[in-house]
Amino acid sequence: VIMMGQPEHSVITTCAYCGVGCAFKAELKGDKVVRMVPWKDGQANRGHSCVKGRFAWGYATHKDRITKPMIRASINDPWREVSWSEAINHAASELKRIQAKYGRDSIGGLTSSRCTNEETYLVQKLVRAAFGTNNVDTCARVCHSPTGYGLKTTLGESAGTQTFDSVMFTDVVIVMGANPSAAHPVFASRLKRRLREGAKLIVIDPRSIELVDSPHIKADYHLPVRPGTNTALLTSMAHVIATEGLIDEAFVAERCELPAFEQWRAFVSQPENSPEAMAEITGVPAADLRAAARLFATHGNGSIYYGLGVTEHSQGSTTVMAIANLAMATGNLGREGVGVNPLRGQNNVQGSCDMGSFPHELPGYRHVSDDAVRGEFERDWGVTLQPEPGLRIPNMFDAAISGSFKGLYCQGEDIVQSDPNTQHVAAALSAMECVIVQDIFLNETAKYAHVFLPGSSFLEKDGTFTNAERRVSRVRKVMEPLGGLSDWEATCELSNAMGYPMHYKHPSEIMDEIARLTPTFQGVSFAKIDELGGSVQWPCNEQAPDGTPTMHVDEFVRGKGKFMITKYVPSDERSTRKFPLLLTTGRILSQYNVGAQTRRTPNVMWHKEDLLEIHPQDAEDRGILQGDWVAVQSRVGETVLRADITERVQPGVIYTTFHFPESGANVVTTDSADWATSCPEYKVTAVQARRVTQP
Ligand code: SF4
Repeated sequence: VIMMGQPEHSVITTCAYCGVGCAFKAELKGDKVVRMVPWKDGQANRGHSCVKGRFAWGYATHKDRITKPMIRASINDPWREVSWSEAINHAASELKRIQAKYGRDSIGGLTSSRCTNEETYLVQKLVRAAFGTNNVDTCARVCHSPTGYGLKTTLGESAGTQTFDSVMFTDVVIVMGANPSAAHPVFASRLKRRLREGAKLIVIDPRSIELVDSPHIKADYHLPVRPGTNTALLTSMAHVIATEGLIDEAFVAERCELPAFEQWRAFVSQPENSPEAMAEITGVPAADLRAAARLFATHGNGSIYYGLGVTEHSQGSTTVMAIANLAMATGNLGREGVGVNPLRGQNNVQGSCDMGSFPHELPGYRHVSDDAVRGEFERDWGVTLQPEPGLRIPNMFDAAISGSFKGLYCQGEDIVQSDPNTQHVAAALSAMECVIVQDIFLNETAKYAHVFLPGSSFLEKDGTFTNAERRVSRVRKVMEPLGGLSDWEATCELSNAMGYPMHYKHPSEIMDEIARLTPTFQGVSFAKIDELGGSVQWPCNEQAPDGTPTMHVDEFVRGKGKFMITKYVPSDERSTRKFPLLLTTGRILSQYNVGAQTRRTPNVMWHKEDLLEIHPQDAEDRGILQGDWVAVQSRVGETVLRADITERVQPGVIYTTFHFPESGANVVTTDSADWATSCPEYKVTAVQARRVTQP
């Protein structure tokens, strides 16, 4: 007997929010989803979920969904609804016109970490094969690109080393620049379970996150590092380990390049890298830092989990390498309970990077200048590919402003709200002649678009997402695309209209092509994923037919691990007389990124606006009371936020989230960026704050 509201059938799929990648049973009545139930056999979540995955799926059928393609001649004109074929043909003819007038490299595309592997693969293929340029980039540029660079340089692979389950075998954990309770809640529960069993915890964060001091969990050490000085802090931890005889000499001798290690040992051992010498820079008492370093090096299996508080800095890549150095020096790689674990923010950040979304890398992190690799793709795709890397996102903006970049295809990314220095992004988009936005909502970027293509939500498509533990999980279609086409189908249509035929009957065929061309995905197929119970961790190939839970077991992917010198270089964003405070940013449990999805669900009950956390002393100095409006000004812009006076932040540091467009955190963040990858320095902005009477 089916009762009112009781589901009639269900489909297993994967959450579209964070990098944990929880599996869910979407329960339907007719063609309507009535409930999302965490799947008990989900290999990443084992029946658990958080308030985002469980309750925040209603955005898929929200009244704001745009389901008809639209075009307009200029961004000042009203939108005009058109057929898919008219929109696609118009977009293609505009892109071809621009290339004829301004040259092949005057256009490009952006892939999305919210879309499936198959979709991001197709967008980079469209850009390289149909547009004929390497001007493709991804929103991973602005979050974990330093992870890719730092881990590939030191260990040989641009990915985390463990499974989430590995944390159950750890004895001491460093959580650095991450707030798992808010951003990766299902992983946080597993971590807390292990901490309750007795594992030790070191939190490195400018802010007192929930793990530092909550009813059941207290960190053994909280090192409240001053924003922008992570590299200095890790180098001084390494100093303690190197100078107090705590290096795992046997591991290093067997597994690492010795000349590089000896150079590193000499570098970190210098007196200027001691905790005492660095304390003034990092703001962390030397005694605490020494004790934390000793604990990590001597307390059994040590694991490091980190997030955007590591990567989104001008020394993001250096800090990732410092983390890898620390893990190698203490022998904490290549088995369960240890490792270097980037906590990826979005559901498919790992996947979008794996799929060749960067302007210098083809799928599988292989450089476009490698003739042999390029040759493989050229033979398979039937085109000639460019050997020079294309433009990164910030370079596209700069080129647009200088007049040489004129057309952009942007799938599933709201760059106006999510990229730093909003004014600069808006100026760049305004200077382009054709901006094509493909999204489920008319987002902030669409204000600058000439063509809008309706996107499809995760419930409307088949494919795969890859989570933070390299787990490729199936995404299954729960309902038909509201706009008539899934994102991958729209990309194929655009490619066909550009004159480069792309025909696939089903996303499984796209994955078969990815497997054919990508050694780490050689054994991956939808059938294999089903056979293994719903997911597989890459590398999956002849050497590892059922996937690879732990990487670098007998040797590193690059052979010997490579220690890198991690000299601290101060950020340009430093407190000054004019801008005496440092603004840093983060997430809250109920909301997600720019909030486009969660703000349109009941989750908005829990969090209605972004607040500005400010220390009582800083508030008093400025006459700011709880709930007052505060103008926050940096060298590029000003925004207004409501004050939340709290000791969670240190004196001199203020903090906000970035889930609401009205708050405009990125109106104040600057173009300061990681030296290696151009990842923006969102986590450090020098600002001043003053009380104002209204927003
Ligand atoms: Fe799981 Fe993350 Fe989705 Fe929450 S948001 S249900 S932790 S994948």
